[in-house]
Amino acid sequence: MSIKDHIKKVKEISSGIKRPVKLMEVCGTHTVSAFRSGLRSILPENLLLLSGPGCPVCVTPNDYLDMAIAIAKQPDTRVATFGDMIRVPGTESSLEYARAQGADIQVVYSPLEALKYAQSNPGRKVVFLGVGFETTTPAIAWTIKNAFEKSTANYYVLSAHKIVPPAMAALLQGEIKVDGFICPGHVSVIIGARPYDFISRDYHIPCVVTGFEPSDMVVGIEMLLQQIADERAEVEIQYSRSVKREGNPEAQAIIREVFEECDTEWRGIGVIPQSGLAIREKFAAHDAALLYPALELPAPAENPGCICGEILKGIKLPYDCKLFNTVCSPSSPVGACMVSGEGTCAAYFKYAKRS
Ligand code: SF4
Repeated sequence: MSIKDHIKKVKEISSGIKRPVKLMEVCGTHTVSAFRSGLRSILPENLLLLSGPGCPVCVTPNDYLDMAIAIAKQPDTRVATFGDMIRVPGTESSLEYARAQGADIQVVYSPLEALKYAQSNPGRKVVFLGVGFETTTPAIAWTIKNAFEKSTANYYVLSAHKIVPPAMAALLQGEIKVDGFICPGHVSVIIGARPYDFISRDYHIPCVVTGFEPSDMVVGIEMLLQQIADERAEVEIQYSRSVKREGNPEAQAIIREVFEECDTEWRGIGVIPQSGLAIREKFAAHDAALLYPALELPAPAENPGCICGEILKGIKLPYDCKLFNTVCSPSSPVGACMVSGEGTCAAYFKYAKRS
């Protein structure tokens, strides 16, 4: 079938459902893909796409950023980070501001760069900011294991790693009402499709693991609509060229070896049980959270006008925020959802800003 045929089918099934249908794209990459390709504008009127908590930068809370900034100000220390984190506002500052004041903060494309720098500069402490979902965790776990095995004593990770399925469970126990989940493609390359089984079994909500090309999304949406029309709730894989039901066992093994599950806070959502990953005791010598136990940090606070939390939970849209496109914009972000390229507010600002 051509993509035109799939679009026709989406419209056909949707019109047969005869009620509003809400599908949540859990991952920020889906949000951006749907906007950038114009997919949203051709969807049937009764079909609404909601963005979920799948932007790692957006869900990282202020106290983590405050700690990263405080660490970066310590002597003989370099903080290495993925680029998206640089401009995220913490309680009083940002990594970008700290860097302008002289802190050694390096943007890297891979944690391996940070590890290599640590190995070539044994006199400096190198702290990598471990932020992200299951997609990025295996590579970061590998660097910790490698530093442990090669006695690279000056390499540390400040872990704020998060696990996606517990966040979906937390959303379902809250106010949100969704008819289906467009499940994240790259997270599922690692974890597979099984971790979503509880959603179809316990909540009778269909899930489709979907790729990121616009054509993938059209087919994923069609598969979800077909399940809704048939009153089925199953976990299906549209992105079968990359995702197996059991995921990637090697990547899962290294995550389990280096990290253990812990309760963790998601920005605007609160603490979700067993949704984070802490570094295991065996590798504690590389845990940046234990490196500076007495740092003075500001009491974490969000801008009271920012509603990132409700947007991440899918219960409000960026248009509902009074600061959207008034005082908050990508060049002057107030909240994390406006910073990352995958943030919902940034995507609405770029592709669907209302004048
Ligand atoms: S527009 Fe800005 S202030 Fe409003 S929710 Fe989004 S990030 Fe927060």
